[in-house]
Amino acid sequence: MRRPVDELELATRAREEGDVATSRAWVLSHLAKHGDAPDARVFLGSLAHLEGDLDEAVRCHRRALSLRPDHAPAHASLAVALAQRGELATARAHLEASLEGEGLDDVAWLRAERQRASLALGGDALPHERVATPMLARSVRAPRRITAHGETIACSIASLRDHVARARTIVVLSGAGVSRASGLETRKELWQRFVRDDAVSAVRFRESPEVLWRVVRAFWGEEDHPPNAAHLAIARLPSLSAIVTQNVDSLHQRAADAAGRTTEILELHGTLKRTRCLACAREHGDATVLARRDVLPPTCACGGVIRPDVVLFGERARHLERAIARVEQADLVIVVGCAMDVSPASELPVLASRAGATIIEIKRTPSRLCQMIPVLHVGGPAEHVLARLEGDDR
Ligand SMILES: [Zn+2]
Repeated sequence: MRRPVDELELATRAREEGDVATSRAWVLSHLAKHGDAPDARVFLGSLAHLEGDLDEAVRCHRRALSLRPDHAPAHASLAVALAQRGELATARAHLEASLEGEGLDDVAWLRAERQRASLALGGDALPHERVATPMLARSVRAPRRITAHGETIACSIASLRDHVARARTIVVLSGAGVSRASGLETRKELWQRFVRDDAVSAVRFRESPEVLWRVVRAFWGEEDHPPNAAHLAIARLPSLSAIVTQNVDSLHQRAADAAGRTTEILELHGTLKRTRCLACAREHGDATVLARRDVLPPTCACGGVIRPDVVLFGERARHLERAIARVEQADLVIVVGCAMDVSPASELPVLASRAGATIIEIKRTPSRLCQMIPVLHVGGPAEHVLARLEGDDR
């Protein structure tokens, strides 16, 4: 028997394509058939949020709460909209309610907890969530709540080497810091030159796709960026079961190919190595090459706009279920070059730690991760630390 068409599922797909109008039409159709429901109202609120209409977002989420006062996704989404309007005390109260309510999955719950902690510490906004529009969870497990007990423990290269040698299953979680030595800018550097919300939002891409393409051109430039010592050392790690990365440069893949390894690589934010036509879905190869064309955005023979296969703001991270399963099976998670300020990557080490893994962070200075969980910190740039991992100096 075929499952009946789930309009909220179709709405989710349209939203992931940045097509807010179609997405909204599916939600309204769902509402017309099934009557008023908090999930659909929160969905409408998230669409309004995506378009920058905070007042309408707040109205939708409040409507959801009038239907079900303990609806956690409504509380969490309302809190983000209120924080952006500057109503911090009310936002914090709704985050607290969202942690007590029903309906958040693990990642969403941890994110709400992180946001609550940030406001409780006197933060004046949710700086890293300004464009990360809340999304309704697709599948909800019973949340396994934790109390945050963060701690940073300094870790030497020798100790890192021992942990790696003893581990049975290693997962590496990587961010832009790993690719710096390959001559690629971090997001933080890029957003000093581009307005992030304009450049990489799914809705904005529909309106002016050339902006994202100019970011791709600025990010990659004319030359090649080969994998560096950090990518190569990661590729050669013994007992490596998976690499989960926020990077879109596919340098882990190139390093794995060079090392003759077939490690699973989960690119949470997609890759620049693939593109497709929005009109006919034809594939057009490497975005970093297409970005060198004189006229941007590059277009297909059919006239359609070509889009890099990367995840934009407002869209869902890829392979998340699989990434969660991988980190929860690991006994050692090495976090390298991650600012830990973008959900859901920032939640993965917490889930891993809770499942019993040791977490080692390789970064110049400890990230905010140490506020949540015990972290062994190895200070220094990824390529130096990881290159020494394979040496025998102590
Ligand atoms: Zn086409």
